Amino acid sequence: MLYPLSILSLVLLFLIHLTHGSSHQKHSHDSQHHLSLDTDSISFETRAHWMRKANAALTELASPCPFAAFGTVIVNHTATSEEFPHGKLICYSVNQNQREGNPTLHGEISGINNCSKILTSASGPYTLTPKEALIAFHSLTLYTNAEPCPMCASAIRWSGFKECIFGTSISTLISKGWSQIDLSAEEVFEEAGALPGATKLMGGVLSNETDPWFSWQFDSEISCPKGCARSGKEGEGVCEPVGEEGKSKL
Ligand SMILES: [Zn+2]
Repeated sequence: MLYPLSILSLVLLFLIHLTHGSSHQKHSHDSQHHLSLDTDSISFETRAHWMRKANAALTELASPCPFAAFGTVIVNHTATSEEFPHGKLICYSVNQNQREGNPTLHGEISGINNCSKILTSASGPYTLTPKEALIAFHSLTLYTNAEPCPMCASAIRWSGFKECIFGTSISTLISKGWSQIDLSAEEVFEEAGALPGATKLMGGVLSNETDPWFSWQFDSEISCPKGCARSGKEGEGVCEPVGEEGKSKL
């Protein structure tokens, strides 16, 4: 699923990048600085808006209770307008491992792939060259409802995103029974050296709403997400969609 930017906003995005391109160098020592909600130049309302979109991508693209409930949206915050006060959505995706049979297609990497396709599509709204598309990433923000694993955190740093905002932490995932490589995005970013961009990182955003997406998979005592019920005789199976509310739109 691909979402376009307006051509105007993309041009703006490039102009801003060209104008401020040197700041990445000037503040390179800040590259591992965290964003905090206290000092964030973008409102919490806007952060929450996009984190909720990352969650909503699950219901739209997968199911109201996908097992691998990892959703990502990629946003241009420089493209705010009366019509788009929170900025513009460029593309989004969810974990596609099972759907595509590709173990690397976590939500974040699938989202990056979608953005590359739409930014460079000959029949799309932007028709960027590959080189221009690579530059465009430096002005974008990636929202993911769970902390990027080391594979995705590396891909995000290689992409040079302006920001990476996540909800549920890796440590929380592990505490809920998820198998994870126990290395935080922060640790990966700290080792990123002079990779392109200066991706700022902020976690725990709206985690009270993202955590429940990852809480039911390994604990049958936890209720299913809305629109789903546990399968199996004793109600101890995985959560599966039920009724109209649980119907996938795919
Ligand atoms: Zn990942």
